[in-house]
Amino acid sequence: EVTCRHIAALGPAYPSAVVVSFQDRADVEQAGQMRRDFVANVSHELRTPLTALIGFIETLRGAARDDEAARDRFLNIMEGEAGRMNRLVGDLLSLSRVEAEERVRPTNQIDLAGLLTSTLTSMTPLADNNKVNLTLVAPDPPVQISGDADQLRQVFTNLIENAIKYGGSGGHVTVELREIDRDPVLRAAALDVRVIDQGPGIDSVHLPRLTERFYRADNHRSRQLGGTGLGLAIAKHIVNRHRGRLKVDSEKGNGATFSVILPR
Ligand code: ADP
Repeated sequence: EVTCRHIAALGPAYPSAVVVSFQDRADVEQAGQMRRDFVANVSHELRTPLTALIGFIETLRGAARDDEAARDRFLNIMEGEAGRMNRLVGDLLSLSRVEAEERVRPTNQIDLAGLLTSTLTSMTPLADNNKVNLTLVAPDPPVQISGDADQLRQVFTNLIENAIKYGGSGGHVTVELREIDRDPVLRAAALDVRVIDQGPGIDSVHLPRLTERFYRADNHRSRQLGGTGLGLAIAKHIVNRHRGRLKVDSEKGNGATFSVILPR
């Protein structure tokens, strides 16, 4: 710990040492606060379905014991709450895995167009259930990139799932793959995968915070749709690992476009 008294004792010969110490301490404190916030959020997110489960178990033991219709109804709700916990634990595991691997550069060569085609095929049932028209616009020949196929599939799945979930029934979701000669931020040739929906969009105040863990632009809707609030945080870590960037453009009332821009 560096106090004013210590600085005075160190004298002018050690100004950089003092600055570094202050910076380190601020970083440690910030990291500690983030960890505490995360644990508090996880506990809260797990406790909500758990409290419901405990309540329903008590009801099944008591008042609803001999009421078959009520029992079925409560068991359905309990199944839903257990599913919510299961998804949350699954996303927490994914998050910790992708965070751990963030510095390891993926080296496998993959065909991004092929990966998108198979991802969209696997998401057709979800789109159909939501009466959403899901379309891919991509060049025919393979588009090679070095990447981790499973992780990139997870990114596109999360983005397409959100577009279907939040885009609204009866809408269109389009996924576009294009090649860019030079991305101005990455300063390199890149591939841009856009997931475009025509839903209610996102108010601009939320845009900078969307990839924070558990941040939701519309809390009620996310929970109603079974969201964990971790999908975009996971996507961001994976895109970082690929040295790319995740971009969102949206205006309230005017749909949303999420872009995954990956260096070639
Ligand atoms: P969730 O599990 O809540 O969907 P995400 O991390 O995937 O968590 O997304 C964070 C929040 O961003 C969502 O809760 C939602 O409010 C907002 N969001 C994400 N995608 C869209 C979209 N396509 N249209 C409108 N809002 C979106």
